[in-house]
Amino acid sequence: MENRKFLLFLMDGVGDRPIHELNEKTPLEAAKTPTMDKLAQIGITGHLHTIGRGITPGSDTAHLALFGYNPYDVYTGRGPFEAAGTDLPVKPGDIAFRTNMATIKDEIIVDRRAGRISKGTVEIEEALKNITIEDVETIFKLGIDHRAALVLRGPGLASDVTGNDPKIENKKPKSIIGTSPEAEKTARILKQYIRQASEIMETLEINQKRIDDNKLPANYLLVRGAGKAPHLESFQTKYGITADCVAGGGLYKGVASICGMKINNNHKGTGGVPTDVPSKVKAAMKSLERSQFVFLHVKGTDNFGHDNKPIQKMEFIDEIDRAIEPILDLLPETLICITGDHSTPCVMKDHSSDPLPVLMVGEGVRPDQVTEFGERPTMRGGLGHMLGQEVISTMLGLAGRVHKFGA
Ligand code: ZN
Ligand code: ZN
Repeated sequence: MENRKFLLFLMDGVGDRPIHELNEKTPLEAAKTPTMDKLAQIGITGHLHTIGRGITPGSDTAHLALFGYNPYDVYTGRGPFEAAGTDLPVKPGDIAFRTNMATIKDEIIVDRRAGRISKGTVEIEEALKNITIEDVETIFKLGIDHRAALVLRGPGLASDVTGNDPKIENKKPKSIIGTSPEAEKTARILKQYIRQASEIMETLEINQKRIDDNKLPANYLLVRGAGKAPHLESFQTKYGITADCVAGGGLYKGVASICGMKINNNHKGTGGVPTDVPSKVKAAMKSLERSQFVFLHVKGTDNFGHDNKPIQKMEFIDEIDRAIEPILDLLPETLICITGDHSTPCVMKDHSSDPLPVLMVGEGVRPDQVTEFGERPTMRGGLGHMLGQEVISTMLGLAGRVHKFGA
């Protein structure tokens, strides 16, 4: 029992609703999924609300719940998880923001992405290092392209502060407001930081060069998604097992790393589509050699839901199923769980509160009669209805790794 391994494989936004073009099946039901169906046949299935019935989860809150944390206790905003996903070492109590490098002219945001700037931004990161305002340290870290993360670290900060991102072009930045008395200092520091950063950015060589090349300069920072980094009991302390994460998207890596998982970046996954699912599966199997628990995340299913592309969503699930075939070799020693974080029905182009299918397979599992992995077949499964926070403990229980409650 001590050396059992665990694989949690998650397809983001996989859940959907019946689609007319797919003969009233969902993309997952319509997809060709011999591997998932096989796993359903030899495993136990059920359906899952990651946070609760009637609650539409964000990806961040859904993942926290699936890892066994109560999002209502630990989540204040997306910022800290995005920041952690850029490898910024976020500490409990930090106030973090999602940040865009943008172009401002005559106090108007002409481009929220600074002409989708991608090259030479290291100069900006270098220039914005080591800015201290009052007694607050600031950390600016580049993400992908125009994206970045900003952290404020110091005493007396709070996350109840609005961002300045107008969300559309040709508008003034929104004014930053502290929405609680505790957040007044945070708002003051943030405003001064953005002013100071903008003055510095104006002087940088990269922007002179961009202007000469007829490109938009990155001379302003737009911030949003303020959140306070929570103090979480680490995954290892909570469950007594070491954990790795294989994901492409920063947000997922960020949630996993704040939970204390090690991030395995040794794959070609992109955090979107197109991606390289086989290389992620390979990385996950490699991770299982060093860690007892591996979280493997694929994002594209969610993207196709947001874009209302049911056929592509189905075809991407075909591709995933082909890619995960090697995990059959992990059985029965490894306890495998497959599920999603929320539904993203094509018809809604957004997340919904619809439940998700879940399956668990490996030694110790009592198989049920379900033979197909899909939203509706798994409703008859032996796991019945589950909540996200029950997933890991259920996996551990099946592997005989849960302590007795009582005598
Ligand atoms: Zn998601
Ligand atoms: Zn989504």
